[in-house]
Amino acid sequence: LAAAPTRPQDIRPLFINEFNKGDFIQLDNVSKAYGDLVVMDNFHLNMKSDDRLVIIGPSGSGKSSLLRVLMGLEGIQRGTINFQKQHYIVGDKNKQAKIVDHTIQKKIGMVFQHYTLFPHLSVLQNLILSPVKVHKISKTIAIDKARALLARFGLESKLHAYPSQLSGGQKQRVAIARALMLEPQLMLFDEVTSALDPEMVTEVQNVMLQLAEQKMAMIIVTHDMHFARNIASRVIFCANGKIVEQGHPEKVFTSPKETRTREFLEKVL
Ligand code: ADP
Ligand code: MG
Repeated sequence: LAAAPTRPQDIRPLFINEFNKGDFIQLDNVSKAYGDLVVMDNFHLNMKSDDRLVIIGPSGSGKSSLLRVLMGLEGIQRGTINFQKQHYIVGDKNKQAKIVDHTIQKKIGMVFQHYTLFPHLSVLQNLILSPVKVHKISKTIAIDKARALLARFGLESKLHAYPSQLSGGQKQRVAIARALMLEPQLMLFDEVTSALDPEMVTEVQNVMLQLAEQKMAMIIVTHDMHFARNIASRVIFCANGKIVEQGHPEKVFTSPKETRTREFLEKVL
């Protein structure tokens, strides 16, 4: 069973972004294509540090591409992406990914649809590997942090378990805990519950709702419209490489402005 959500007064604000809320992330004129296929056509996007953007849209509309670009895994051909007013990524016709500031990349964590835990490592080892080996954080500190995060997500008993001994929902919660080890200021979630059995979806969504309560900035791609409506501060509908419509979840879901949004929602709701 999923752990009961923590009552708000018990929550220590671990993840509050101290930076001026209004200048968190800004995409200007961003365009990206794979060959002739345009997946981001002149994107403009502003995100505040306490925003939870939920990206919805048909398969192939470029949702994952947007997240991979923000993670620095793929380049853009045109435009700029600023993070807390600093240049982070700029468009470059030729380069795979032109990251101006790699220190920003470390402030972003990502979780994918298919859990990417190392199968030969225990839960604890999965969490501390990169912080200790890559980021040179002391092992003692990393272990303390890992324990605290796992306890927070109801996984303290799984510290020494291996991924093969976990349910799908537990694996995704571990993947989220692992992404939080380096204290990111932005979390990206790409359909993290799509591969889960229905009874495990809630436990993972509860973890994300917990992060939302702690004011973690998040960009979430999901096909679960009920969850989207619950967690989003803003919903963005993408289709054919364009941002078709964005707005408050109640607005977008109950009275969408664009025909394409309405047609999409009629299909999925
Ligand atoms: P979504 O996540 O909304 O389903 P994606 O961002 O994964 O969309 O993909 C958008 C389009 O770009 C799709 O048509 C997909 O086939 C194509 N695409 C994605 N990645 C690549 C790639 N590395 N090379 C070529 N085409 C790609
Ligand atoms: Mg996708």
